[in-house]
Amino acid sequence: MSTIKEEVEAFMAPIRKRNPNEPEFLQAVEEVAETVLPYIAKHPEYKKAKILEKMTHPERAISFRVPWFDDKGEFQINTGYRVQMNSAIGPYKGGLRFHPTVNLSVMKFLAFEQTLKNSLTSLPMGGAKGGSDFDPRGKSDNEIMRFCQSLMTELFRYIGADTDVPAGDVGVGGREIGYLFGQYKRLTNEFTGVLTGKGMSFGGSLVRPEATGYGAVYFTQEVLKNVGDTIRGKTVSISGFGNVAWGVAKKVEELGGKVVTISGPDGYVYDEKGVTGKKVDYMLEMRSSGKDKVKDYADKFKVPYFPGKRPWSVKVDIAMPCAIQNEVDVDDAKELIKNKVPYLIEVANMPTTLEAYKLLKDAGVVFAPGKAVNAGGVATSGLEMSQNSLRMSWSAKEVDEKLHQIMIAIHKTCVKYGYDKKAGKVDYVKGANIGGFVKVADAMLAQGLV
Ligand code: GLU
Repeated sequence: MSTIKEEVEAFMAPIRKRNPNEPEFLQAVEEVAETVLPYIAKHPEYKKAKILEKMTHPERAISFRVPWFDDKGEFQINTGYRVQMNSAIGPYKGGLRFHPTVNLSVMKFLAFEQTLKNSLTSLPMGGAKGGSDFDPRGKSDNEIMRFCQSLMTELFRYIGADTDVPAGDVGVGGREIGYLFGQYKRLTNEFTGVLTGKGMSFGGSLVRPEATGYGAVYFTQEVLKNVGDTIRGKTVSISGFGNVAWGVAKKVEELGGKVVTISGPDGYVYDEKGVTGKKVDYMLEMRSSGKDKVKDYADKFKVPYFPGKRPWSVKVDIAMPCAIQNEVDVDDAKELIKNKVPYLIEVANMPTTLEAYKLLKDAGVVFAPGKAVNAGGVATSGLEMSQNSLRMSWSAKEVDEKLHQIMIAIHKTCVKYGYDKKAGKVDYVKGANIGGFVKVADAMLAQGLV
């Protein structure tokens, strides 16, 4: 009998060989393999059909040239990507990221995570991810528009309302989705729900901007409820100050908790009184300034600013990384453990390194993975798709209620597949991975060798 570790190694060996220089993708697959392989061992039908192996092969991975002129009239070139990972349970669905760190490894890890995440929402959406290594920082509005139009001039042939429906992610918000949608419509002469996160005047959904953050806090509420606790009175550290962090801050305040940090690439601020009221709105102002730094917040509200530092050394009740992959490393995990932070709720996609996660787990920190916690964003995109198909729009209350129910259901799925009787607690990583896997695996089995 081989140990789980040996089994994971045997599973990973050919994947490592096939995907050299793709550390993020390998990290995401390994984390899933660790929890899903023991489950597959009890389900020979999945093993025989090599379902998990198949899931690590993108159905299609597209990379293309994106040429554009900057405001000085100089020729610029970036790389565009769309990784269409899995369409077993619905059309490909997932965001577009514009960030200098984007490469094929990052796209593949995100598309792989997205496949399981979308399955967890219970809505019919396959998994994909795309974007570009384009850096929106400091770019003018015209430059952003020209870049979006050039990207769509190639991307449009691979997407469609029943084929692949992109949305936003880091660096892609309502403005970029508007430009992308406009160019798609111009190229195809069709007004369809081909993108989500659209403006309200052309098919967008109410609550979509808030959805990822709100959903994350709804999930947190369930995690706390499960151990007889509540958000009221809790202090929360968050990283980032973009759309997701903003949604979290708004909802935490509404439920009586207190967010005490936000961060940017330049460092973090500590606001003992809480990121509340007008200060939450100021996050949006900082974001639209395009400066990508939080020092302005510290200057404006006269709070301490820690240049070059991440917020994980602050003693809080709940840590919620909302920024980017691998932003919580081993040193950060040690700080969190030293400060006895009881909950680490991942809001970004894979913000914790594998080693840091293991330390936190061994220390008994309640750990919830991004693919479950942040699924409210894409779930609300799914609700936008439904509204577009119906050619109707629902009220904010209706969308919010649906989002809330979806997050409660995702938590239930995590408990169903992740409850460890012996330990008397929920392993959320295991629960989310297996819960996401089962639906995709069953659909893949049913559809045969495709
Ligand atoms: N980028 C978001 C995510 O990571 C949203 C994707 C979508 O709405 O399609 O799930």
